[in-house]
Amino acid sequence: MKKRISILGATGSIGTQTIDILSSIDAEVVALTTNRNIELLEAQARALKPKVCAACDEAAAKQLKIALADTDIQVQSGMDGLIAAATHPDCDTVVTAVVGMVGLLPTLAAIRAGKDIALANKETLVCAGQLVMDSAAKYGVKILPVDSEHSAIFQCVQGAQGNALDRIILTASGGPFFGKSADELKTVTREQALQHPNWSMGAKITTDSATMMNKGLELIEAMWLYGLPEDQIDIVVHRESIIHSLIEFADGAVLAQLGLPDMRLPIQYALTYPERLPCKVPRLSLAEIGRLTFFAPDDAAFPAMRLARRAAREKGNLGAVMNGANEAAVGLFLQDALPFWQIPELVAFAMDEVPMQENPTLDDILESDRAARAAVNHWKMR
Ligand code: NDP
Ligand code: MG
Repeated sequence: MKKRISILGATGSIGTQTIDILSSIDAEVVALTTNRNIELLEAQARALKPKVCAACDEAAAKQLKIALADTDIQVQSGMDGLIAAATHPDCDTVVTAVVGMVGLLPTLAAIRAGKDIALANKETLVCAGQLVMDSAAKYGVKILPVDSEHSAIFQCVQGAQGNALDRIILTASGGPFFGKSADELKTVTREQALQHPNWSMGAKITTDSATMMNKGLELIEAMWLYGLPEDQIDIVVHRESIIHSLIEFADGAVLAQLGLPDMRLPIQYALTYPERLPCKVPRLSLAEIGRLTFFAPDDAAFPAMRLARRAAREKGNLGAVMNGANEAAVGLFLQDALPFWQIPELVAFAMDEVPMQENPTLDDILESDRAARAAVNHWKMR
C-alpha cells in the first residue's frame, strides 16, 4: 500500500537518507520541513512535489515562500509549520527527523491526528515517554523505531511470538574517545568529538555519541518502547557497529540483528514494516569483517550513562531535565564555549537543581526543559 509521508527535518542526516530510500518503496511525500536550509529544501520540494513545506526559522520561511512562489506548494513557518506538516490530512506516516525536544509537540500533534510515527527523534521519548506512549495507545497509532538499536530490537521482537523479553542489550560503538580516561577527556577538542568512527550524523548526536549520552538517551528510549526497567537494559561497547542490538528471553536465548552501519535500512524498515523490500544498503560479509569485539562500557570516564540510568529509574520530569540540560550544554560545546568534559557535569548539576515532579503534564515537561536550560546557562555565567 502506498505510504503518504511527512518528513520533519528533511534536510538533516536522517531526512536526506529517508529521501534517498524513497525510490525503493511505494511512497508519496506530503510535507517537508527544515530549520533554515532552504536551498536544499527547495530542491527537495521541486523533486518531490509535497503539498506543504515549512521552515521553522521565520526569515528562512519568508525566503522559501519567494523561492517556491511559482509552485502551488504551501509554505509555513515556526512551530505552526512543523505541526501543519505533521498533521496534514493527506499524510499517514510522519518521519520525525528533527533534532532535539523541538520534535515533541509535532509528534504529539501527529499522534492525536492518527498518524503512525517513524521515530528518529529520540529526545521526544526521553522528555515525555509516558505522555507519548499513552497517546499512541489512546489513538491507536504505531511508533516505529528508526534509531538503529531500537530498530534492531524491533526486528528481533518479530520472532518473540508473544514471549516477554528478559533483557535488552544495546550495542554502542564507543564513539571517538573509546578507551580514554576521564583525565585524557579534559583536553579533547570539538573537531575530535565530531569525528565519529562508524556513522555520519548531525553534530548534536555525534557529540552525544562522544560523551556516550547518546547511549543513555537510547536506554530511556528502549525503556519506553519495550516496557523494560533500566536494570534489564544492558549496554555493551561493540566497536564495529555490525550487531545493532540484541534481546534475551527467559531461557537465555539471545537474538541479534546484524548489518553494515547504514541508517537507510532501519529507516526503510520503519516505512515498509511488516514487509521487507530490497534496500540500497550493501550486504554484510562477515568473512571480510573477520572479527567482532565487545567491551564493558566505562561509566567512570563517561558518566552520562549513569545520569541516564538515574533518569530512567526516577522517571517523572527527570528525563526532560536531563535532555534539556544536555541540549544546552552540547550547544555551548559546539560554540566552543564549554570544554567537552563539562557537558555531563552541567547535566548532573541541572538534574540536582530543577525540582522533581512525579506525574508531569505536557506543560510541566516544557517548563522542566526551560528550567534545565536556564540552570545550565546560569551555571555557565557564574
Ligand atoms: P541533523 O542535525 O542532521 O538534522 C536535523 C534536522 O532538523 C534538519 O533538517 C534541521 O534543519 C532540522 N532542525 C534543526 N533544528 C531545528 C529546529 N529548532 N526546529 C525545526 N527543525 C530543526 O540531525 P540528524 O538527522 O543526525 O538527527 C535527527 C534526529 O534523529 C536526532 O534526534 C537524532 O538523535 C536522531 N538519530 C539520528 C541518527 C543519524 O544517523 N543521524 C541515528 C539515530 C537517531 P537545518 O537543516 O536547517 O539545520
Ligand atoms: Mg542509535
